[in-house]
Amino acid sequence: MFKINDNFLKLPGSYLFSTIGKKVAEYKKANPDKTVISLGIGDVTLPLAKAVTEAMHRAVDEMGSAETFRGYSPDLGYEFLRKTIIENDYNSRNINLDIDEVFISDGAKSDCGNIVDIFAVDNTIAVTDPVYPVYIDSNAMAGKTGDYDKDKQAWTDVIYMPCTAANGFVPEFPERTPDIIYICCPNNPTGTTLTKSELQSWVDYANKNKAIIIYDAAYEAYISEPDVPHSIYECGGAKTCAIEMRSFSKNAGFTGTRLGFTVIPKEIVATEPYGEVTLNSLWARRHGTKFNGAPYIIQRAGEAVYSEEGKAQTKEQIAYYMKNAATIRDGLTAAGYEVYGGINAPYIWLKTPGDMTSWDFFDLLLEKANVVGTPGSGFGPSGEGYFRLTAFGTAENTVEAVERIRRI
Ligand SMILES: *Cc1c(COP(=O)(O)O)cnc(C)c1O
Repeated sequence: MFKINDNFLKLPGSYLFSTIGKKVAEYKKANPDKTVISLGIGDVTLPLAKAVTEAMHRAVDEMGSAETFRGYSPDLGYEFLRKTIIENDYNSRNINLDIDEVFISDGAKSDCGNIVDIFAVDNTIAVTDPVYPVYIDSNAMAGKTGDYDKDKQAWTDVIYMPCTAANGFVPEFPERTPDIIYICCPNNPTGTTLTKSELQSWVDYANKNKAIIIYDAAYEAYISEPDVPHSIYECGGAKTCAIEMRSFSKNAGFTGTRLGFTVIPKEIVATEPYGEVTLNSLWARRHGTKFNGAPYIIQRAGEAVYSEEGKAQTKEQIAYYMKNAATIRDGLTAAGYEVYGGINAPYIWLKTPGDMTSWDFFDLLLEKANVVGTPGSGFGPSGEGYFRLTAFGTAENTVEAVERIRRI
């Protein structure tokens, strides 16, 4: 008789976006005359840049011709893309990487979720709280998180590191020492960042404790302040403890196109009791066995993001979203809200007024302003009392939404 992976049964329902969807649908049905604006989604809205679609068209033509047709792509990615990434994202910041330290994938979510494969079940993970849900759920599916405590809304064997206004959204070293530490910077959902010295202290901590940092830099392109690191490898010693994940989704609108990459330096070595095993070799094996490479057409599209035109065009898109972020940030600050993020990330994280819960504020905003956002409590226990708005809407809708919130 077959058995299932019953770790899946421990997962609490992912009610967040379905509950939001239901509430919005009910409101619209009861109030057909009202126009509801959503600043809730974490998805881009601008179309792909011209340089990107042109590269895709050229690659499509290559695939349609016998001389230039390509079959299976290399499991770990085409050299042209890996080389372009290293030159533009790393060499330009004085970071040297070998080509086989960069693994091309179909997105950062897959990589965040799949990386659990190469680690033992009895590792203890630490996450910042609130957090992008994939880190915890993927570990839970692999049986690495203990049980879910409904009252505390937390897993018994996960170390939660609260990030709130009280500590400036900078995680503190936990009492219990973790084996694997997830850091997302710039952060989703809070939109906040770590300075280089703050991140350096985490790198030092990881090296001292022989822990691994999984560094999610999906929003790297939104960084506007000089003291925020673009890569964890800007920190000394990071090559012996940190895995970095990046995505083409938020910097170039590839959410539906799918492309990302993970960097695993060969200096990260597991010793006792294995002898000497590099994480790089384990991930190469994992990738080679379970993944047949990102599509050629998409990798050519990714390469075009780094062309002169590609850089200029995607920079414009980011500027468009960040103008929205400033509209929200400035508008709500003027209206008396306590507002975080929005400077190095397309997310605004606001403190709910008074002692309102995240969901009460959601209802208020929906009913009084016809604006939809995301309740902070949906991202973890320390998100209670906060609320996320995104800068991915149209400029017109963003201005209108902020006007409406101010009028409440
Ligand atoms: C959007 C997002 C990703 C996912 O990126 P894909 O490449 O589209 O899979 C990863 N991490 C965080 C924190 C994100 O918000």
